[in-house]
Amino acid sequence: MPERIRTDVLVVGSGPAGSTAARFAAESGVRVTFVEGRAEVGTPVRCGELVPSDDEIRGMFPAATDIASLFDMPGNLRVREIEGIGLTDPKGRRTLLDFTGYSTDRDRFDNYLASEAVKAGAELFKGCQFKGVKGGLAETTAGEIEYKVIIGADGPGSRVAKALGLPKNMHPYPAVTAQAEGDFDPYVEMFFGGIAPGAYGWIIPKAGRANVGVGFSPKFADGTLGEYFETFKGRHNLNTISEMHGKYVPSEGMVSRVVTDDGMIVGDAAGHVISVNGGGIPLAVIGGRACGQVAGDHLRKGRPLSDYQRECEKIFRRPLDTAAKNKRLADAFAFRSEFSTAACMKLLGKRRMGNLIRCKRIFP
Ligand SMILES: Cc1cc2nc3c(=O)[nH]c(=O)nc-3n(C[C@H](O)[C@H](O)[C@H](O)COP(=O)(O)OP(=O)(O)OC[C@H]3O[C@@H](n4cnc5c(N)ncnc54)[C@H](O)[C@@H]3O)c2cc1C
Repeated sequence: MPERIRTDVLVVGSGPAGSTAARFAAESGVRVTFVEGRAEVGTPVRCGELVPSDDEIRGMFPAATDIASLFDMPGNLRVREIEGIGLTDPKGRRTLLDFTGYSTDRDRFDNYLASEAVKAGAELFKGCQFKGVKGGLAETTAGEIEYKVIIGADGPGSRVAKALGLPKNMHPYPAVTAQAEGDFDPYVEMFFGGIAPGAYGWIIPKAGRANVGVGFSPKFADGTLGEYFETFKGRHNLNTISEMHGKYVPSEGMVSRVVTDDGMIVGDAAGHVISVNGGGIPLAVIGGRACGQVAGDHLRKGRPLSDYQRECEKIFRRPLDTAAKNKRLADAFAFRSEFSTAACMKLLGKRRMGNLIRCKRIFP
């Protein structure tokens, strides 16, 4: 990257939120630059790699439009079709929920989205870390970038949010993942209890392998995440064939403000994550489209950036607030002990647990 460049829209981060924002802003005809701090897009993978089906996404976020075209991914990114989710309580009782979706390879998935942004005209700089904003200029490890609008798609610890004075989730929980070899049935398996206090362990089937991982809430845990992961692997005879990688997951829902006079935040940076299960890929893509379009329209037609806040309120506020409320209830009652986890799961039953994972109210 040259030491100083000028652009219309600067997007920080090339995850699903950043690449989608860059694509839609570029499609509107403005000049777009997106920067990625890591040397490669999507590597290492720090995700369970589960993508819900279009119907599941529509059910969770009914105000989001054109889901089919937005999630029309190449067939080779659908690594394994998912036919349901098994929830296993600490006593070993398993409830199988109807659920459709697919597992993907997140590195290839992210690279595909980044390539679509580049195809639309956005310019990508890798190994270029955003450091902060000084006098209207973004400072990065590779040089300065003059921008008209900045989009922070830089994940849960967003430096852009901080630089813009926007709020962030205060209590993200850590989660780790790796690939395990073997043949697995086409069901996502989630395990609750002391194995992953305050969250869950998972097995998400892929082709000839599975994505396996553990998340926990630090306030309920008395060991390291690595130790919990080893116990989880041992209990399920999982033979991992890749290194373990981890990241923080926002757990409190969408932050109160996602826009300023010249900036927006999206994806994990904005708390666009379902608190009860940590799912964020569909939200990053939906939010990325919304802020990319608003940024482009702002520069070309004078559309106010505050429209992005309005879009986020319409699409995400209610489902994400409901999920955050359900997570608080789970923290208060279910996650206190293995006994209470098992009792609450039994009390909720199949229908309410289905509501829980889909951002719906569990009690009328
Ligand atoms: C272990 C784990 C498992 C998960 N499993 C699932 C799942 O199965 N399904 C699901 O839907 N969601 C899952 N999630 C959540 C999902 O991964 C995120 O919600 C999603 O990646 C959010 O996309 P994003 O683009 O907002 O952020 P990210 O994917 O985190 O992308 C942010 C990008 O910004 C870059 N960046 C950060 N700081 C800077 C900087 N200063 N300068 C330049 N670049 C920077 C990062 O390197 C990164 O590439 C999981 C999360 C974790 C941690």
